Amino acid sequence: MLPESLGGLAAMAGLLGLCVGSFLNVVIHRLPKIMEQEWHAQCAELLGEAAPETNEPLSLSSPRSRCPACGHQITATENIPLISYLLILRGKCSGCRTPISPRYPIIEAITGLISAYVAWHFGPTLQAAGALVLVWALIALAAIDLDTQLLPDSITLPLVWLGLAINLWGIYSDLPSAVIGAMLGYLALWSVFWLFKLATGKEGMGYGDFKLLAALGAWLGWQMLPAIILLSSVVGAAVGITLIVVTRHGRNVPIPFGPYLAAAGGIALFWGAKITQTYLGMIG
Ligand SMILES: [Zn+2]
Repeated sequence: MLPESLGGLAAMAGLLGLCVGSFLNVVIHRLPKIMEQEWHAQCAELLGEAAPETNEPLSLSSPRSRCPACGHQITATENIPLISYLLILRGKCSGCRTPISPRYPIIEAITGLISAYVAWHFGPTLQAAGALVLVWALIALAAIDLDTQLLPDSITLPLVWLGLAINLWGIYSDLPSAVIGAMLGYLALWSVFWLFKLATGKEGMGYGDFKLLAALGAWLGWQMLPAIILLSSVVGAAVGITLIVVTRHGRNVPIPFGPYLAAAGGIALFWGAKITQTYLGMIG
């Protein structure tokens, strides 16, 4: 493959990533709200009450995005990834001039850059196509977990099945390693959860974390799990301690683990084989 055509492929993946990032912003913003609506409806049903009145039921596709401050409906030209925020809106709502959070263009830019890197790293292969889906899901999960401390089942569980399915053809790992990876991934954090709970009486992480690690095991095989757990724990501990020291954050304020797992999963996707070889080499 010629370098310039690989560069072209990366540029195309980057543009696609910008658009997907724009959609991920919707998912990150709305999915927790949709889940909350569903929980309220289920609780009402269980208690035999009338379903709570909602003015418009929320879904990923409707209603169209609006400014939360003035209700101005986002137009097509205001919805171009990155460009709209930087050049057309300059960070403010065109209706009421309320500043728009920079997280929207940041998510778009991150998704674009990582997508371009996926294409560059894997070239025109099935591995690249699968990796795009995986990193997009990981970005959404990390951001939702940061916001709400939730890792929605509607993303983590399909990710487990998809990882197993894609490895029917051995794309990232052989199938037995993927199946064992899904099982061990879940069990590993489940055991840590119960040990931690028995030792301290506190819950250190959520069930969503188990499912996310199960998904990473399904995609990358059980051989990657030690590296993923080690990477996410080291980075998580470093960030956690920094937060406690710098912001005098209470030690009991929960720190989501999902973003670290997602980041470690991404690192393992690109460089896991090298990392595993290195530490297996060090062991013997
Ligand atoms: Zn507005």
